[in-house]
Amino acid sequence: SVAPSTDLRNSSSPLQRFVKGKRKINDIFVEIEDYVLDSGNYVTALYKENKVILLENDVKLVTGYVDKVKGIREVLARDHMKVAFFGRTSNGKSSVINAMLRDKILPSGIGHTTNCFLQVEGSENGESYLMTEDSKEKQNVKSVGQLAHALCKEKLSESTLVRIFWPRDKCFLLRDDVVFVDSPGIDVTPNLDEWIDKHCLDADVFVLVANAESTLMVTEKNFFHKVSTKLSKPNIFILNNRWDASASEDFLDQVRAQHSERAADFLVKELKVCTPKEANERIFFVSAKEVLQARLNEEKGMPPHSGALAEGFPNRYFEFQDFEKKFEECISKSAIKTKFEQHSQRGKSISQDIRDVMEAVYERALATQKEQSLVKKELNDKLNYTEQQLLLVTQEMKEKIHHMVEDVEQRVSKALSE
Ligand code: GDP
Repeated sequence: SVAPSTDLRNSSSPLQRFVKGKRKINDIFVEIEDYVLDSGNYVTALYKENKVILLENDVKLVTGYVDKVKGIREVLARDHMKVAFFGRTSNGKSSVINAMLRDKILPSGIGHTTNCFLQVEGSENGESYLMTEDSKEKQNVKSVGQLAHALCKEKLSESTLVRIFWPRDKCFLLRDDVVFVDSPGIDVTPNLDEWIDKHCLDADVFVLVANAESTLMVTEKNFFHKVSTKLSKPNIFILNNRWDASASEDFLDQVRAQHSERAADFLVKELKVCTPKEANERIFFVSAKEVLQARLNEEKGMPPHSGALAEGFPNRYFEFQDFEKKFEECISKSAIKTKFEQHSQRGKSISQDIRDVMEAVYERALATQKEQSLVKKELNDKLNYTEQQLLLVTQEMKEKIHHMVEDVEQRVSKALSE
């Protein structure tokens, strides 16, 4: 078979770096939460007894972190890697997502134009359902047909989001916390700003699904120009889809070279989001339809391609897998950086702040103790001095009295003898 098995891919998948990193940073924040709670209780109790070594601001700072850490833990638990797909209607966005998910999840084809944003994410307990933005109701989805029907039934505006929850164990990308977002075609006169603000600002990777049968369109380019004004150096992949349809062209290599050059110019010169070398790793020529079919066949234990092998199919299949490999590297790297870097800095600064408070408390306690022993020493010294003075005085008196007595005695005996 052309495709490596799901398990093999998963064990070496860069996505696992994100998953492991997420687990680790979650564990660390469990510890930080413990530490913050303990410290909060300690300073609150101590402040009641002693308002000298603990200041009100310290108590506020430490106890304030309890809620902050709880908030960070909630965000961390929800963190995922997000990939957003854009392109003109019918270029094959839904087909690409389905091919990557190895299943017909999103409706595709004529009459199934996606007219709102669809987000596919993993669900727990093997459930499949959808949720619209304005309701908490889980609508059961058992099949693509049902999903398409449910989407038609809803009166949805183009910038609403419908979340589709699909069993995690059915696809390793979902299990590894990748979330897919399919957009309405960029040719449907969208409100680009609203789209970007609502659905794109936290995307780790953008995939432009272009049609290999034509050149990049102004509408497609405009969208990414907009994106790159709002995000610094977005990660953009360009898939020239429907490459199978050009398989029998006479000048296939020239067509490919021309598309590649234009796409690279767009990324490197127009958007300035990558170097020419990087651009080579971002532009692919694929057929989502073929890959999806091949994977569905393989799922059933059949060869990837039944019937006559379309010209160039193994190459296109390989190129799709190559895209997935580069995509996984890219999304994992970006998500780790954007999602975890800030939290780990925050975690560090919280523990440092609490440490500073504790150190200040310790210093103040030490100073108070020193002060007290200093007072004690002074008193002692005074006492000693007085004692000595007393001794001296007594000694002096004794001698004086002695002399006086002697003097009196002498004078008395002198008087007697006279
Ligand atoms: P979307 O509107 O961008 O989501 O496009 P769809 O995924 O719904 O695809 C539109 C039509 O193009 C469907 O009938 C697909 O089967 C077909 N299609 C998608 N990808 C390919 C491809 O690589 N090659 C060919 N020949 N047809 C494709």
